[in-house]
Amino acid sequence: MSTVKEQIDQAVDRLGDDLERLSHRIHEHPELAYQEVQAAGWLTEFLAGQGFTVERGVGEVATAFRATIESGNGPTIAIMCEYDALPVIGHACGHNAIATAGAGAGAALAAVRAQLPAGRVVVIGTPAEEGGGGKVRLIKAGVFAGVDAAMMCHGWDRWILHQDLLGIVRVGFEFRGTAAHASADPWEGVNALDAVIQTFNNVSMLRQQIRPDARIHGIVTHGGAAPNIIPEMAACTFYVRAAKLDYMWELHKRVLACAEGAAKATGCTVTVIDKEAPYEPLKRNDTLLGLFRANMTSVGAQESPAPDRLGSSDIGNVSQVIPAIQPMVQIAPAGTPIHSRAFEAAAVSPLARQGMCQAAKTMAMTTLDLLADPGLLKRARAEFEGVK
Ligand SMILES: [Zn+2]
Ligand SMILES: [Zn+2]
Repeated sequence: MSTVKEQIDQAVDRLGDDLERLSHRIHEHPELAYQEVQAAGWLTEFLAGQGFTVERGVGEVATAFRATIESGNGPTIAIMCEYDALPVIGHACGHNAIATAGAGAGAALAAVRAQLPAGRVVVIGTPAEEGGGGKVRLIKAGVFAGVDAAMMCHGWDRWILHQDLLGIVRVGFEFRGTAAHASADPWEGVNALDAVIQTFNNVSMLRQQIRPDARIHGIVTHGGAAPNIIPEMAACTFYVRAAKLDYMWELHKRVLACAEGAAKATGCTVTVIDKEAPYEPLKRNDTLLGLFRANMTSVGAQESPAPDRLGSSDIGNVSQVIPAIQPMVQIAPAGTPIHSRAFEAAAVSPLARQGMCQAAKTMAMTTLDLLADPGLLKRARAEFEGVK
């Protein structure tokens, strides 16, 4: 009689061909944010076939889903799937492999259902990670309410247990002045482009006094119509990123002050435009990461140190409301940059299949650990609350 973890391992191996086919199918039909109709359809069809109760369009997001299996009254553990693609370069973020790793983890748990400790496993389909903040909408709609802990994996060029993610807030500034002939009557004009340029100068000065892991970067989106017209309207967009939520909002305030100061100096008015929903920093949870590490080692994956480079994702928002983790899984040869054509090709390689299956096993085993010992969830929660 094998242990439940051995049975999970075998279940994923048994389903390997199906999962790989599903992964390739999603990869061949890349769909952009909130348009992942086929991917969501195939994933829910697969999960329903494994015995999950499937709800489509949860949180009033048409391409989101929740698939549930219950084994009595107990905690709820969520496994998340992402399946949106990038414009032009398709699945260059490897979300096809993430989606099938999550679905595979769910399927493995369904396979050992009779032996699962009391509780609930939910596989949550979260659209629009690359832009649009699908998880932010699902959090607001209450889809994560009642979930005790959540996990997902992301494809990468190596295995990394935890990679910090910066929070990001995106803000636009629209300056308005007065048009005039730039040579005949320049004194009649109020130059909105000057306000944009001054905003960049102010931000440049601010940038040298900020923490090294924070980032502020912007572009000019409107700079005037012709050189012989004093621009009456000019606009720019900035991304403000930081590793801590408080600091992100503090920097956001200071960037607003840069734009307001520029408006004042040039005599323009400024309108602040909030762009997409902010992505929050990833809050680390060592209790969950420790379980994940032990399981990933047991399925033959080897952890690498986290490289010194930082991005952002809406998994950060989930980690700010419940204990959540996002380990990185190797699906591409070491050194392959993400969001590249090479990564897109690697996302359907045998290496991607191996990483996807190891990730599915590890997430299923970690979910099993959490259902089996309520003390672990308590510890994860205490760590989340800041109580050591
Ligand atoms: Zn990406
Ligand atoms: Zn991604």
